[in-house]
Amino acid sequence: MGYAHYTVTRHDGIEIEAGYAVEAVCEQDGCTEQIDRGLDQLCGSWPGTPEDGCGGYFCSRHLYYGDWESEEPQSLNCKPCIDKRD
Ligand SMILES: [Zn+2]
Ligand SMILES: [Zn+2]
Repeated sequence: MGYAHYTVTRHDGIEIEAGYAVEAVCEQDGCTEQIDRGLDQLCGSWPGTPEDGCGGYFCSRHLYYGDWESEEPQSLNCKPCIDKRD
């Protein structure tokens, strides 16, 4: 309901389909893990162009909790975004 399937505009201006009903492959180079584009697979806290991530979708092996301090619940991020924080 609302989160199953929608479109968002990525940081590069390309509109993509997202939502937990949308099947995709992990965006990590070389990874072929099947995922969906639900919020649980998202780098950042919001689809499209989150302030705290790249908006890419990754499998659980390629998402990490950041260690920066935040009042908000921590978002998950891919390795490149984690590295950028340092
Ligand atoms: Zn990222
Ligand atoms: Zn992966």
